Amino acid sequence: MSRIVDEPYFTYSAYSALISGIQVKCPKCHGAGIVTADRDNARFRCLSCGHQETCDRTVYRYDVHNQCKDCGRYYRVDIEEEAGQHFSVLRVSCPYCGAAMSGEVHRTAQAFSYMAEIKDGKEPWFGLELWFLSSFQGKPVWALNREHLAYLIAYLSADLREKPPGYPKKNQADHLPTFMKTAKNRERIVKLLKKMQEG
Ligand SMILES: [Zn+2]
Ligand SMILES: [Zn+2]
Repeated sequence: MSRIVDEPYFTYSAYSALISGIQVKCPKCHGAGIVTADRDNARFRCLSCGHQETCDRTVYRYDVHNQCKDCGRYYRVDIEEEAGQHFSVLRVSCPYCGAAMSGEVHRTAQAFSYMAEIKDGKEPWFGLELWFLSSFQGKPVWALNREHLAYLIAYLSADLREKPPGYPKKNQADHLPTFMKTAKNRERIVKLLKKMQEG
C-alpha cells in the first residue's frame, strides 16, 4: 500500500518557474530548453542550441495626458490598443469637449505580471510548448518539469492520498483536472506520464 502526502497548492504552478524552471521545446531546434523568471524578466534558454529569449514581465499603462487647447481642462486618455502603444505621439480627442489634438504617449510601469497559467500546453510568457506534454482522450496532460512529473506519477499511483498538514483549504492536487483523478483513468494516465519520463 503506497501513501502520499500532497504538496501545498502553489508548489507546481507557472509561478514556480521563478524557482525551478519550466521545461519547454526550443522554437528554433525543438530541443529541450528552460524558462525561468525573476522579478523583472522571464528568460528562455535552449540547452541544445543556446538560443535565448527575454521578455519583460512588467505591465505598462500607456496614456496621453494633456491640457485641452479648446476647453482648457486637463485630461487623460488611456491607450489600450497595442498598435497605439508603439507611437510616441498620438492624436486623441479631449474626453470633455471632443477636440482632437496630438499628445505625447506616456508609459508608466504598473505592476509585474504574476498572473500566469498554462494554456493549451504552453507556458504563459513566450507561448512555448511544454516539453512534457501529451494528451489523453483529447485533453492535454502535462508537467512543468521533471519534479512536477515525478509528483504527478507518485500522487496518481498512490493508494492513499493525504492533504498536507497546515494547508486546510487547497492543495496541489486541486489543480488536477477531474479526468486525471478519476479512478477509471488513473492507471492509463500514470502509464502516459511514465512514458514522458523516459522520453
Ligand atoms: Zn534550441
Ligand atoms: Zn477639451
